[in-house]
Amino acid sequence: MKKFFTIAWAWIRSWFQRKPVRFKTEHVEELPDQLKPATIYIAGEGEYLWFVAMICPCGCGETLHMNLQADTRPRWSVAFNANDTVSLSPSVWRKIGCHSHFFFRESEVVWCHEHGYHSSMRE
Ligand SMILES: [Zn+2]
Repeated sequence: MKKFFTIAWAWIRSWFQRKPVRFKTEHVEELPDQLKPATIYIAGEGEYLWFVAMICPCGCGETLHMNLQADTRPRWSVAFNANDTVSLSPSVWRKIGCHSHFFFRESEVVWCHEHGYHSSMRE
């Protein structure tokens, strides 16, 4: 019986703490026409990385491109972590559209709540 309560509690708790989705990583040379949600696409050839792309995690459906090339601004850097996850720096902040502002750390979206997600939800 105790086990039942443990499971039930974990289930209830998971409803309240929306667990961040861990993104899958796909290495591509060209972006596919249809991006999958919760997937970070790393475009490049071999060692040379051009950009990363993902569908905006706020749900607006826009494709986000983050440039990785040193000679173009703005520029992001991508880190490949030992646990097979990916981190981006700096944060992603859309100045247009949904104005999402989030960090992408260890393949998870960490929202900056002052801007972005919540303000766009109120509109
Ligand atoms: Zn968005």
